[in-house]
Parts: sequence; C-alpha cells; structure tokens
Amino acid sequence: MKMDDIVSCPECGNDLKKGYIFSPRRICWSDSPDSILADFGSETLIGDAWLKVKKVPALRCEECSVVIFKHKENKDIN
Ligand SMILES: [Zn+2]
Repeated sequence: MKMDDIVSCPECGNDLKKGYIFSPRRICWSDSPDSILADFGSETLIGDAWLKVKKVPALRCEECSVVIFKHKENKDIN
C-alpha cells in the first residue's frame, strides 16, 4: 500500500490531513523505551538539517494526533 492510498486514520478512521514533517534536528527511532545518554544503536529517520530543512510528506489525524510519515527518501542525507 502506498502512502497516497492511505486516507483514513488507523486509530479512529477519520480522514487524514496531508502535510509535511520537518525538524531542524534529527529524528531518531529506537526499539527500546529506555532513556539514553547518547544515541548509540538508534536509527536516524531524518538527519540533521544543515542549510535547508528538508520536509517529508506526512499524513496526520487531527482527532487523535496520529502522524504517519515515510522516512526512506531521506536516507541519503543521514
Ligand atoms: Zn485518528
């Protein structure tokens, strides 16, 4: 299933709003809920922005704050 085909929230079923995620800092993923001092072993989904802040296409539900975004296109800037 492509992102463009997703039209409703997986949690509440409401229509999702299209937009963009961006961050001046990197966004990371971890499988563990533990707090960490350094980001060893975590995966960077969106890398640090240097000159331009890259925006990533995203979908969000304004009802329950679910946000869906695809990070793979950003691997080249990590
Ligand atoms: Zn929802």
